[in-house]
Amino acid sequence: VDSKLPWVGTTIFTVMSKLAADCGAINLSQGFPDFQAEPALFDAVHRAMLSGRNQYAPMAGMPELRQGIADKVAALYGTRYDVDAEITVTAGATQAIYTAIAAFVRPGDEVIVFEPVYDSYVPAIETVGGRAVYSRLTFPDYRPDWNHVKSLIGPRTRMIIVNTPNNPSCSLFAAEDMAVLAELTRDTDIVVLGDEVYEHICYEGAHQSLCRHPELAARSLVVSSFGKTYHITGWKIGYVVGPQPLMTEFRKVHQFNVFTVNTPGQLGIAEYLQDASRHLGLVDFYRQKRDFFREQLQGSRFELLPCRGTYFQLARYGAISDKPDREFAEWMTRAVGVAVIPVSAFYHDGHDDRVVRFCFAKKEETLAAAGERLRRV
Ligand code: PMP
Ligand code: GLN
Repeated sequence: VDSKLPWVGTTIFTVMSKLAADCGAINLSQGFPDFQAEPALFDAVHRAMLSGRNQYAPMAGMPELRQGIADKVAALYGTRYDVDAEITVTAGATQAIYTAIAAFVRPGDEVIVFEPVYDSYVPAIETVGGRAVYSRLTFPDYRPDWNHVKSLIGPRTRMIIVNTPNNPSCSLFAAEDMAVLAELTRDTDIVVLGDEVYEHICYEGAHQSLCRHPELAARSLVVSSFGKTYHITGWKIGYVVGPQPLMTEFRKVHQFNVFTVNTPGQLGIAEYLQDASRHLGLVDFYRQKRDFFREQLQGSRFELLPCRGTYFQLARYGAISDKPDREFAEWMTRAVGVAVIPVSAFYHDGHDDRVVRFCFAKKEETLAAAGERLRRV
């Protein structure tokens, strides 16, 4: 077959979760909770189903849910998106990102991404004939190098993708980063695509959403996901907000990509979303897990890097092994019984800082059992 993506194999998340299952290892690799969401959420979906709301939702999403999203975004970031024209419910963040790329990137266009880069972006860019242009975050602070970004911007630059809080680096963009991004994109037609699926899991200061910055918001599509926020990664329901001219283009593709998203799931989330304490409480919920997991690793030979956001923890393992990170991750899964993600998977050239990623969105007992194994390594 004449592959459009000859360099793409199976996503690292599938590879490591399968290996974890095959080996019976504790799976701290792929990011998903091992605990349940609240019954109130399931009850709300059940009620929607029983009341007969099981047919196609409107293409843009259920109005109740779009209203809830509009109110939440306005309350948090001060920008009010129009419920009818500027909010679209998507099949998770992944589809929103893919659709946004497909809607704006033409063959030969360049898209600037920061490395380490979440693994879905570049295959999406290349599928539609675009070219990813990489700017590496510094190591080990994972800060953007804006002079480098500036040097990459040219007439072919169509889009810049910003992921904050950042997976896998657990770093955050600061307000100053957003100010520089605004300056660099001023007087261009560059679209900024914000992946903010960890918007509610930001441990240091306020999350710098693109929606907070009027100049950037005017050129941005901003994506989030209920999978992360409500512990339901398997539901694949997310959304995108953006100014009407951008959203019109987004929907041209969205309507033929998925057309619409699971109706009772949307209605259940719309009801559940009314109580803001559910998303506002997420940061304390995960801070406790982060601190608990970091304590578990005290006395181990892993060197923990800062975790400023997301539900991941990076660690250097140089004191344990000089294996490349993929080999180390495989060995960890098979021999130690704890599956992790090798961070080189997020670099196009396999760049390897000998760092692995743990997911701590797990029950305390899971984290404690993993800790026991990790302290013996
Ligand atoms: N972006 C980032 C940075 C992620 O970590 C994930 C995984 N949750 C996604 C996008 C995909 O989200 P979803 O499962 O809603 O498609
Ligand atoms: N976002 C999740 C992670 O980073 C995985 C999602 C997926 O498997 N595609 O682990």
